[in-house]
Amino acid sequence: MMDILGWMDVALQKANDSLKAGEVPVGCLFVYNNEVIAIGNNAVNETHNATRHAEINCIDQALEFCKNKSLNYKNVFTNVDVIVTVEPCIMCTSALYQLRVRNIVYGCANDRFGGCFSVFSVPNIYNSETKIMGGVKSDIAMALLKEFYKGTNPNTPKPKVKKGRKTKKCDNLEYI
Ligand SMILES: [Zn+2]
Repeated sequence: MMDILGWMDVALQKANDSLKAGEVPVGCLFVYNNEVIAIGNNAVNETHNATRHAEINCIDQALEFCKNKSLNYKNVFTNVDVIVTVEPCIMCTSALYQLRVRNIVYGCANDRFGGCFSVFSVPNIYNSETKIMGGVKSDIAMALLKEFYKGTNPNTPKPKVKKGRKTKKCDNLEYI
């Protein structure tokens, strides 16, 4: 039996790290055989790459895990449970469906870009056994997002970006 609440706590911790680093607070874990094989958060600002979402960073780590253990990635991904604090966006949901992960468990809904059901139902266009469960500790995940967009968390160090970039803060919404 998967300890969903316990794993979500770890993902939320990662989301909090993301917030402190000036990134959109989304945390993600890939659990395989009851072991965390990938843990990530958004790294869009750090890398200046709008596709570096938490889930994509985890996919790279999971592929590295497969390589190091000489495992067939297809067999691994179909037994991976994805724990993520926010409903994956359309891009990430598509990627996870193409990899045929076993479960996607998320916290709060993503009303702007959600690919599980909120904006577009990616599951309808893929033939995959992947199952989705949402709403796990959603209040905490949502509070982190609100804090990020409010930008008034005194514990958040100022992102190491040049002046003027601050005005682009709203653009970060695109990166959830
Ligand atoms: Zn995404």
